[in-house]
Amino acid sequence: MEFFSEVIGETVILGIDSLILGFCIKQLSKCKQILNGLQTAPVLDIDATLKNEINKFPNNTIPYVVIRGLVKPLGTPITSNYNNSVTGVVQRLTIKEHVIARTSAGFWSDQTRTIHEVCNSTPFVLSNGKYSIEVVDALAAELLDMDVISDKFEPMSPGVIDHVWGFFSGVRQRGLQTMEEMLRDGSYITAIGELSRSKSGQMKIQPPKDGLPLYLTTATKSSLLKRLESSRDFLRILLVVFGTVAAAASCRIVYKYIKRRKRRALEDGVKKQLAAGRKERRAQAREKNLTDVQLCVVCAENPKEIILLPCGHVCLCEDCSDNINDNCPICRERILSKAPAFIT
Ligand SMILES: [Zn+2]
Ligand SMILES: [Zn+2]
Repeated sequence: MEFFSEVIGETVILGIDSLILGFCIKQLSKCKQILNGLQTAPVLDIDATLKNEINKFPNNTIPYVVIRGLVKPLGTPITSNYNNSVTGVVQRLTIKEHVIARTSAGFWSDQTRTIHEVCNSTPFVLSNGKYSIEVVDALAAELLDMDVISDKFEPMSPGVIDHVWGFFSGVRQRGLQTMEEMLRDGSYITAIGELSRSKSGQMKIQPPKDGLPLYLTTATKSSLLKRLESSRDFLRILLVVFGTVAAAASCRIVYKYIKRRKRRALEDGVKKQLAAGRKERRAQAREKNLTDVQLCVVCAENPKEIILLPCGHVCLCEDCSDNINDNCPICRERILSKAPAFIT
């Protein structure tokens, strides 16, 4: 416990660092899994040969595949709230509040909070001429690239009361940002996911069952791979940095422990030396030629020098009394304290 208080700083650093390290390892393994999945995913065209490709796989399902095509709604498309001429299949409306907040360190910093988000979607397909694939569960996509249709910022003009309130509450309103994003009708995108064909012949792409993400993006497979590789490299750097911190903190704990052991050993040595010196001095000061009655009952060499309490027996020399702490050797009563006895 005493040692723990000496290394509390290192232990806290090691604890926090291990948590971050664990998170990085988890993210890195996820990133590697996606990279592997994506590297082996075939790039297929939406055409007459696709059916034959699917037939080669069990249950008519390709676990991870890259497909490119034009977005086409199956029913009525969603019309933009801000621009009537724009239609799409997925719409996201976000309202963000921009504030200047006082941080715990006392500085004011810009912060953004999402206060409202709505997503709408309508069934759609990726098509190429007369061939098409339905995209299922598009909102579950990990990467969903959409066009920004409208992005408006309405600044607030604060009055005197707002200023006073802001000073005390630590939050000053700056304004509201309203944004509309849409996956537009007719855009050319890459879909990466699980491709399957039902008995009726309808093909669909959806989030894979083995934990890999669904991507609906304007990027190509190679640029996605590059992005994943750079985030994998970044995670590796983080791993090295936090791994080094963990190793340094552990080394410091071990170093302090060894140092403490050495210090203890040194202190014990000094104590033993002092005790031996005292013993030596006592031996020289002792009377010689004592009768049996005057001798210690344990060593029968030195005179009786110590009184045991509460029983009151004077039966031990000082040297032997150091090793007898439990019961009186004469009456077996428990020893509560010892004191020097002066017999004249
Ligand atoms: Zn003795
Ligand atoms: Zn006794």
